[in-house]
Amino acid sequence: MRSASLYLHIPFCVRKCAYCDFYSVPCKRDDPRLDALVERLLDDAGRWVHDFGIERIPTLYIGGGTPSLLGAVRIARLLSGLGQLWQEAPDELTVELNPESLDKALLMACRNNGVTRISVGVQSFYEPSRAAIYRAGSAARVLECLDMVQRVFGTAFSADLITGLPFQDETILLKDIKTLLAYQPAHISLYALTLEPDTPLAHMAQQDKRLLPAPERADALYIAGRDALEQAGYSQYEVSNFALHKKRGAHNIRYWRMENWLGFGPSASSTMIDDDSGTGIRYTWKRDVDAYLTGSAPLAERLDQLILMKETLLMGFRYSDGPDLALFQKRFGQSLEACIPRSLAVWQSLLVNSPVHCALSKDGLLLLDRFLLDIFTELDANMLDTIRT
Ligand code: SF4
Repeated sequence: MRSASLYLHIPFCVRKCAYCDFYSVPCKRDDPRLDALVERLLDDAGRWVHDFGIERIPTLYIGGGTPSLLGAVRIARLLSGLGQLWQEAPDELTVELNPESLDKALLMACRNNGVTRISVGVQSFYEPSRAAIYRAGSAARVLECLDMVQRVFGTAFSADLITGLPFQDETILLKDIKTLLAYQPAHISLYALTLEPDTPLAHMAQQDKRLLPAPERADALYIAGRDALEQAGYSQYEVSNFALHKKRGAHNIRYWRMENWLGFGPSASSTMIDDDSGTGIRYTWKRDVDAYLTGSAPLAERLDQLILMKETLLMGFRYSDGPDLALFQKRFGQSLEACIPRSLAVWQSLLVNSPVHCALSKDGLLLLDRFLLDIFTELDANMLDTIRT
């Protein structure tokens, strides 16, 4: 049975956060493009699921941008339209909501249309940090929303926090974590701030060298946050993700395992893999909402074995279970050990190995970029002339 997860990108936000590099444009709730977007997403999803012969959709994720800007009526229309695509509902159906555009009607529309999990963009409860990153809504509003989410979804939600923000120190970060823990979300994402080029925050940081913590202090902050979450019972299962009682995010695990997904909306991409040849195809929609709404086609690109192998390792080693070794062998006709023996030997002390797993340890994850550089260098040196293309 052919399966693929679905991702729908809602490319609108109330305003742009200073650090954000995702594709989204500012928009108000009465913008007619929101209605047009819902219809286009439904058309595309229906056609592609049919054309690819997808019989099972294990997970569905509506992200952005700010999906909550759709409001209750449009989200209900989108979810009920998507419901026509399956006989057996996805195991996990997540919608991202941001506090400034979240209300009870929207939560009820989600619950009544099969949503199993909400993802709330908190980022910080500390007002000076929120103001510095142009985050919409206040800390008080975030708390109100967490109350609402908890009343409707219990603990079936995830919340995002960011470390390394302007004006944040360890005391403030730990206080934010404590505040969030009072709601007992099943899942928390803790992101270390990345300074993306050409964002307002990057320009501000260039002018004020003390705006952001120095790299060592930023690393220490992240580790303090990670340890606080672990002490509270949230186990880290990916670089930035923590789950209580093993409530891991199934949708993202499919990305880390490089399993088929179809993505719709401007900037979204799809990846469909042929497990027998170890090659794939990627379709990426342009970062342009007007082009998307007027029917532009996505860019198609072939993923040869080397590209797909690198992506499989890049994504797989983010995950605490590592890449799927049996799937790796099936796709590429050789074992992981045979592909990167030198790197695995050099990094042995930071790897967790078993007959079915090969993954970075918790300390190893902190050095993920260096590890990836090593394995890609080894792959380039050893594999280029031996792999099938
Ligand atoms: S709400 Fe999310 S997607 Fe929108 S600008 Fe902020 S970080 Fe980016």
